Amino acid sequence: MGFPARSLAALQQQVALWRGESLSVALVPTMGALHEGHLALIDLARAHADRVVVSVFVNPLQFAPEEDFDHYPRTEGTDIAIAESRGAHLVFVPPEEDMYGIGFATHIEVSGVGEGLESDERPGFLSGVATVVAKLLLQCLPDAVVFGEKDYQQLLVVRRLVQDMNFPVRILACPTVRDRHGLALSSRNEYLAEAQLVVARRLYGALCAAGSRIAAGEEVTEVLAWGVTRLLEAGFDSVGYLALRDAVDFREVTRLPMACGHEARLLAAVRIGDVRLIDNVVVGKQARLKIS
Ligand code: AMP
Repeated sequence: MGFPARSLAALQQQVALWRGESLSVALVPTMGALHEGHLALIDLARAHADRVVVSVFVNPLQFAPEEDFDHYPRTEGTDIAIAESRGAHLVFVPPEEDMYGIGFATHIEVSGVGEGLESDERPGFLSGVATVVAKLLLQCLPDAVVFGEKDYQQLLVVRRLVQDMNFPVRILACPTVRDRHGLALSSRNEYLAEAQLVVARRLYGALCAAGSRIAAGEEVTEVLAWGVTRLLEAGFDSVGYLALRDAVDFREVTRLPMACGHEARLLAAVRIGDVRLIDNVVVGKQARLKIS
C-alpha cells in the first residue's frame, strides 16, 4: 500500500486499485500539523468508508500575501506517522506543481454562503478553499469527504460547491474537537504564547454565554453587542465578527426560533496579537463539548 503518495499519479493508482476491489474511499483534506481535531475527521471517515485518504497540502491559494503561508506549521513526517497510526490508509502529499502548474488560472467563487464574515476578513480565502477542494475531489474521486464544523462557513461553501457542481460525493461533518478548557483545537494555536492561550480559552465560554442569552429570548443585536464587549474585556485585541447565522443557508438571523426550523450558529473571529482564531456554537441546543 503506497504510503504516502507524493504525486497525483501515485494517488490515482492506489485509488484505482481499491476501486478494483470494490472498496469505498473517504477523503480527509487537511493542511497538516495534524491534531486531535483532524484525527476525529479520520475516525469519522473510517466509520463510513473502507479506505481513508488524508491529504496534506498547505494551499497557497487560500492565504493572502500578508498571511502566514510561509510560517504555517509544516510537520509532514509526524503527520504521516500519526495519520497512519489513526488508521488512514494513504496520505496524499501533492507537490505544488501537481496542484497549480504553470499558467494555472481557474478560481472557483461560491456566492451566497461564500460571502460575508470570513470573506470580508480574508478576501480570497473561501475561493482558495473551494478551488483546492474541487481539485482534490476530482483527483481522488472519493465516495465521502470529511470537513470539520469548526470552520463552519467553509463547510457550507463546500456543501454548496458539491451540490451546484454535482460532485458525486457525500459530505460528512465532524463536530468541533476542543481542549479541556473548551478551546477549539487548531494548527494555529501553536502560535499562542502561554498568556495568549489563557485568553484564547475564553472564546468558547463567551460564545456559549451569548448563545444561551439568545436562546433564552434576549434581543439578538443587544446580545451580539454585549458579546463583543465581553470578548474585548476577556483580553482579545479585536473582534473581527460575532454573528448569528442560519446554519443551513447562512443568512443573518435576527430572532429565534426561525420559522424555517433551521438551527442557528453563533460564529466569531477574534485576534490576539497576530493570531486569528475562529469558533462557532449551535444556538438553542446544549453546546456539544468534545474534549480532546
Ligand atoms: P486545516 O488543516 O486547518 O485546513 O483543517 C482541515 C480540516 O480539519 C477542516 O475540515 C477543519 O474544519 C477540520 N478541523 C480543524 N480543526 C478542527 C477541530 N478542532 N475539530 C474538528 N475539525 C477540525
